[in-house]
Amino acid sequence: MTIHLREASHLVINTIRQSSALKDLLIWFVVTLLVSYFSIQYDAFESFNEFSREQESWQLDELFIVMFFIGVGGCLFGLRRYWDMQTYSRRLHREADFDSLTQLPNSRMAKRQLVNLMTHCPADRYVIAVLLDIDNFGTINHLYGRATADMVLKHVATRLKLRNEQSGFVARINSDEFLACDICDTKLHAVEDYVAELRRTENVPIVIGKYIINIRFSMGVALFPKDSDNPEDLLRATYLALEQAKTTAGIDWYLYREELGQRREYREMLSRQLFKAILNNELFMVYQPIWDQQKHICKGFEALVRWNFQGASVPPFLFVNIAEEYGLINQLGDFVLRRSLTEMKDKLADDQYLAINISGHQFQHENFIPSLLELVKTTEFKPHQLELELTETTLIDNYELLLEKLHRIRKKGIHVAIDDFGTGYSSLSRLNELSVDKLKIDRSFVIGVVDGVREQNIVESIVALGRKLNMQIVIEGVETEEQMNKLLELGCDLMQGYLFARPATLDKIEPRFFGIENSLSE
Ligand code: C2E
Ligand code: CA
Ligand code: CA
Repeated sequence: MTIHLREASHLVINTIRQSSALKDLLIWFVVTLLVSYFSIQYDAFESFNEFSREQESWQLDELFIVMFFIGVGGCLFGLRRYWDMQTYSRRLHREADFDSLTQLPNSRMAKRQLVNLMTHCPADRYVIAVLLDIDNFGTINHLYGRATADMVLKHVATRLKLRNEQSGFVARINSDEFLACDICDTKLHAVEDYVAELRRTENVPIVIGKYIINIRFSMGVALFPKDSDNPEDLLRATYLALEQAKTTAGIDWYLYREELGQRREYREMLSRQLFKAILNNELFMVYQPIWDQQKHICKGFEALVRWNFQGASVPPFLFVNIAEEYGLINQLGDFVLRRSLTEMKDKLADDQYLAINISGHQFQHENFIPSLLELVKTTEFKPHQLELELTETTLIDNYELLLEKLHRIRKKGIHVAIDDFGTGYSSLSRLNELSVDKLKIDRSFVIGVVDGVREQNIVESIVALGRKLNMQIVIEGVETEEQMNKLLELGCDLMQGYLFARPATLDKIEPRFFGIENSLSE
């Protein structure tokens, strides 16, 4: 909006400048020439002198002097107006093209500079474009405040500019996104060298007042003319590469490849189809038993959502992720809650529970708790038989609000479990404060548990931690007898995995899991 206003005023001023001030000056100049010409031609002053003497009572000579001064004043005023306009328009130009905080070119200017680099790039070289995004800038903003975060951006801008002064340029594209461009060699190591050079800006922590702030970038890299022949597509390529860098574990920069563009299109297509599928009730639920290996009973079920599209099952982590990205997660989450509570309400034995996965965005939505409680009420599902599975990452942001939300949920008797435990950043002190009911140890620790000492130690420690904090432990992804025996040895009783049962639709779940045969045999 501000850019539009600026552009509009810029245009207006420019037009005024060109059409009026300059025109005025031109007219003034022509008129002066004409006046001079005719004055000389007709001896204007002498004639005027004679005429004024004849008509002394009109005070023409005095009037002439006054007119002369008004004229000179008018000229000075005109010139002054012209200079002011020029300064003003230069300032507007600057504001429309440069970022006011860092004084770096903005995205508009960056595109022009990119075109400039592209036109001057020799045929045997590349223009390299790197989009840099400060990791966890939201957290910096949150922890240290807006003013400090602004200072961080200024420091980053200065450092990047110093590293990129020779032939290229650095621009600020968005809040914490910077673009660095230059001309480079076509060998791969040239790209790596350039990235390494930019990375050197991270080496020294930024000191602002009493804070010492470490920054880290994720980067997306694309090359002209290899990846695109115009600035818009080149920038788009850097965005796709950046997204890949941010979503791939262990990677902090990524060089664009054509598949990324196709991947984006594929995700967009899936998001549209998912939207339709949710509206048309085409998704369905499966349930996987959670097994107590000590008592040989099924303690409950985890509800998992399924979507068949074009004859194949779309992996849940993929479409759940797409739903989060494209703003469909609340509709998806609503469907999952409504469908599974309705289906399981009359099926569960009194001492069994139903665990439902809640994604981060879904949990953070302000309407989540009211609509959950409303749903529990309308479906007549017993709150103490419901458990929400939240991941560790969901439990980091906005801590105060989180504690309050957890408190409200648990007050109603609904249980809370931390899913994929061990893969995130839970700090022990926080874990104590959060007072959740259960930890679900991530499947990755089961895979190597039979022989791996590290995995065994981790599982054993989590079990001990759970006992201390009065939390139950479930371990998921148990596939073999060996794993099961080892886990029992390490103190895990509650297990989930293909060894006991695969997730299945309600009609395919064996009756024994609902406690029917268990109670007969015991
Ligand atoms: P999760 O919450 O960790 O779910 C457990 C996943 O492990 C499920 O995959 C389950 O089918 C799989 N699994 C269970 N036992 C075994 C085993 O023995 N071996 C192996 N290899 N895998 C096992 P699924 O159903 O593909 O779901 C993947 C992820 O998608 C879930 O991970 C969860 O994060 C998400 N998800 C699934 N359903 C929902 C849902 O209704 N809502 C939300 N928000 N997320 C869901
Ligand atoms: Ca889960
Ligand atoms: Ca899990």
